[in-house]
Amino acid sequence: MNARNLSSSSAFQPVLTRNIHRPGSERISIYLDHGGYQAVRKALAMKPEEVIEKVKQSGLRGRGGAGFPAGIKWGFMPQDSKLPKVVAVNTDEGEPGTFKDREIVEQDPHQVIEGVLIAAYAVGATRAYVYIRGEFFLGVKRWIKAIADAYEHGFLGEDILGSGFNLDMSVHRGAGAYICGEETAMLESLEGKRGLPRQKPPYPTTAGLYGLPTLVQNIETLACIPHIIERGPEWFSSIGTAESKGPKIYSVSGHVNRPGNYELPMGISLSEIIYEHAGGIPDGHKLKAVIPGGVSTPMLPADQVEVPMAFETLSSIGSEFGTGAIIVMDETTCMVEATRRISKFFAHESCGKCTPCRIGSQRIFEILDRIEKGLGHPGDIELLLELVNGIDGYTFCPMGSGLVNPVRSAIQHFRAEFEYHITNKHCLVKA
Ligand code: SF4
Repeated sequence: MNARNLSSSSAFQPVLTRNIHRPGSERISIYLDHGGYQAVRKALAMKPEEVIEKVKQSGLRGRGGAGFPAGIKWGFMPQDSKLPKVVAVNTDEGEPGTFKDREIVEQDPHQVIEGVLIAAYAVGATRAYVYIRGEFFLGVKRWIKAIADAYEHGFLGEDILGSGFNLDMSVHRGAGAYICGEETAMLESLEGKRGLPRQKPPYPTTAGLYGLPTLVQNIETLACIPHIIERGPEWFSSIGTAESKGPKIYSVSGHVNRPGNYELPMGISLSEIIYEHAGGIPDGHKLKAVIPGGVSTPMLPADQVEVPMAFETLSSIGSEFGTGAIIVMDETTCMVEATRRISKFFAHESCGKCTPCRIGSQRIFEILDRIEKGLGHPGDIELLLELVNGIDGYTFCPMGSGLVNPVRSAIQHFRAEFEYHITNKHCLVKA
């Protein structure tokens, strides 16, 4: 994990990744030696509603893609319910380009456990389920070990730190389905069923796992919680922009000299991340396009990379913050091929529950595939746009807009390449 501080981020000190460079960072002894589990002591001395208020004041927004304000979500958990309450920890990181959660889990799982403890105490939950992507073999192993050590040290189980608060936690492995990152599909899978999204409302905070009030939260979001309690919400909200607060781990991949995870402030410019932290584009090539938040977010052309990485600034230029996973494409990239590959992923991962996504994702892939192979027809671009318009807003879950975003944005910014492929039967870039 890279956590350098350069240029406009020079005053920023990494917190989420502060332990990552330490040998054995996943061990409870290392976590304890560097101030671990102090925030939960502090939280347990507060009233649960005070903890929720601090998270609200911090301005923390979910780091799993949707960006929903965490404190508001916590406030939706019913205070007067007689039903047991649950925290479901979403570690089903499946958005292509995103690899931050995996590193957090493998390198510093106790930071997340402490965040879960504080969240569970605040919302009155006594059970926490960790849903982790099945392919994260090391992450699974480290979660299980970390939970066992937390029990042994009295941070999990009954009467935690003599507070009277109880919390049990266990790990459930997923099987690598992209859709299980969607919160209700994840709950279905946790219940042992096929991972298909549920109708909302009711939202999980009202009726989630087994119909119980359930707080579903991404692990980077939970990793922020101990720091908010320890340093105060004012510290957290002093970092970032008007609507996007705190530190963020950006996954950077593609055509950069130093791909990796970078903890930097929200609001830092996309160009600073690419050119300073990730070392710029290799071989003197020019930047062509960037996907700013994982493959389900709209692509940006090179002339838009001065944009601050924040929810509101990216949406103002027609893209999305997503998971903050930045995929960099240089001038050697064929945009038809890049879009074809992304569409293949979505066609494969469609859960099949609703027709526009199930059929539409396949048709989009077939059309892009034939264009890329030099077999495209005049009118294929219009057909793609017609399909995109027939999917967006007409699907059961947000994957519909996720699958159309890359196609629509690629045509919007690089239409000439698609036209060239259709007319000349080969690639403009690789000709
Ligand atoms: Fe499944 Fe429909 Fe969501 Fe696609 S949009 S993943 S088919 S529910």
